Amino acid sequence: MLSFCLATNNEHKLAELRAKLGDRFRLVSLAEIGCREELPETMDTLPGNSRQKAEYVFTGYGIACVADDSGLEIAALGGAPGVHSAYYAGPQRDAAENMRRVLKEMGATQNRAARFRTVLTWASAGGTVQFEGILEGTMAHEPRGANGFGYDPIFVPHGYTRTPAELTISEKNSISHRALAVQKFVNFLSSGI
Ligand code: IMP
Repeated sequence: MLSFCLATNNEHKLAELRAKLGDRFRLVSLAEIGCREELPETMDTLPGNSRQKAEYVFTGYGIACVADDSGLEIAALGGAPGVHSAYYAGPQRDAAENMRRVLKEMGATQNRAARFRTVLTWASAGGTVQFEGILEGTMAHEPRGANGFGYDPIFVPHGYTRTPAELTISEKNSISHRALAVQKFVNFLSSGI
């Protein structure tokens, strides 16, 4: 059975991917391969950071690795907060403050187009492959809803009137950028690598 690492210690991300992979693959966390260091994330794009993390683990620990990097890209802000999504309002990584900064910067701008984007990178002896998931939508003018995390309360997916923070977990998972990228990756693994 092929073992590989998901470059995270986030139990939710591990559980989500394990559920999709079934028992064909053995998925391990960073802690399980003895990696307790902070992974480098010094690139200025989502694909760059995702690739940097996956290749760092594969090269340094000798195990195939999949890494993710996600963010919110707002057209009127030139793609910001992008790779800086988690700490847009400062190192305290406070979601409410991040949302306040984004809404303040957008002001009353008419162009509300935005997208959530995930890039997964698979790094193994066979090389490096990337998978992208995108959820298009528009920015709301104020937060709505209490579910989810991050920028969910101020984003309205195309085709919806509710924000992801007003959707159930399974509704969000059925459209999310992360789920899309994960599905492409699972299809790739399932097709035999
Ligand atoms: P990560 O790469 O998955 O850690 O995501 C980085 C940051 O992007 C998060 O801390 C959030 O601020 C934002 N983000 C990513 N995915 C989502 C989402 O599904 N909803 C809301 N915010 C998200």
